[in-house]
Amino acid sequence: MSQALMPTYARADLAFERGEGPYLYTADDRRFLDFAAGIAVNSLGHSHPHLVKALTKQGAKLWHVSNLYQIPDGARLAERLAENSFADRVFFSNSGAEAMEGALKLARKYHHARGNPERFRVITCSNAFHGRTMTTLSAAGNPKYLEGFGPEPEGFDHVAFGNMNELRAAITPETAAILVEPVQGEGGIRPASVEYLRALREVCDEYGLLLIFDEIQCGMGRTGRLFAHEWAGITPDVMALAKGIGGGFPMGAFLATEEAASGMQPGSHGSTYGGNPLAMAIGNAVLDVMLEEGFLAKVQKTGDLLKSRLEALVAANPHVFEEVRGTGLILGLKAVPANVEIIAALRDQGLLTVGAAENVIRILPPLIIDEIHVDEALAALERVCASWPETGSDGAA
Ligand SMILES: *Cc1c(COP(=O)(O)O)cnc(C)c1O
Repeated sequence: MSQALMPTYARADLAFERGEGPYLYTADDRRFLDFAAGIAVNSLGHSHPHLVKALTKQGAKLWHVSNLYQIPDGARLAERLAENSFADRVFFSNSGAEAMEGALKLARKYHHARGNPERFRVITCSNAFHGRTMTTLSAAGNPKYLEGFGPEPEGFDHVAFGNMNELRAAITPETAAILVEPVQGEGGIRPASVEYLRALREVCDEYGLLLIFDEIQCGMGRTGRLFAHEWAGITPDVMALAKGIGGGFPMGAFLATEEAASGMQPGSHGSTYGGNPLAMAIGNAVLDVMLEEGFLAKVQKTGDLLKSRLEALVAANPHVFEEVRGTGLILGLKAVPANVEIIAALRDQGLLTVGAAENVIRILPPLIIDEIHVDEALAALERVCASWPETGSDGAA
């Protein structure tokens, strides 16, 4: 492995040469079923023909022009996202953390423009993940990721995820917004309850706060709706997207209602690359597929099947797994032994998964998987369970 790469990742000794649908292949043609999907990025799997066509067609025409000019595909993608969500305004970024930063800037600007510059603080949840920039690290408040990077940017108050009493008690005259992931991803696949999401909407309305959802991981079809908050029948004022929105092309976005975005004027915010023609061609192509009749219903159906199969697996193998979490195709298995050991064993069996907090193994397949892929994943999981020694922490055997 190269010494030139900054050693910020503990990488598996595995390199892929090509991908096709839900499969990845090494140069020596070993095949892996990819239930990590680049951490929820390859929403349509690898080398999806419609995305390849959009990429090559646009790639031959025009990659990049500055946002100083009109970008018709960007205007079209913004309109389509707005039409299919609560939002009226869209800003395109290159990544999730940048989308989050933009959403947080918007919240401050909103109150500032209304003559309340003292309202700048944002209430966030413990166990959250919002990105790796200084501000998004501070927003999430995970001490593991902040260690050594102090002093922290100011302005975040952390409360327990799901606890409305704590949240209400944290509101002050300086509070600008509440920021929550409708399904905590990195934090261990923890879905917010419908009641919690509705109560967040109510408290924001009561105090004039902006409700910001980070749907970078759980949005773009992953729960079987285009956006995870749709299940609660409420809407936020602001939402950050990334990961699945580009199907593997680096892009993100933050969306807002006209009212929430009212402080954003020419010069308020910008990005050199964000929303360039190549990204926008691919973003539109991703949306073409996701908005096809039946696409999201199939994600729900496949997700339900996968979850029920995982529940049976867990019930049969209490020495390996404790519980199944999540919804749609954002699922988690809470492991009994160290999750990294099981992830490595699954990899040896040709199944790729990804770790999360709370000793969880994230199952994030491409949204295009079929029942046969569920069968194949379960077969790999069953092989690992069958070979796992029963001498667990409970002292059995
Ligand atoms: C991945 C992720 C981010 C950060 O996205 P990047 O593209 O890595 O900057 C932020 N929030 C959530 C919920 C995420 O899953």
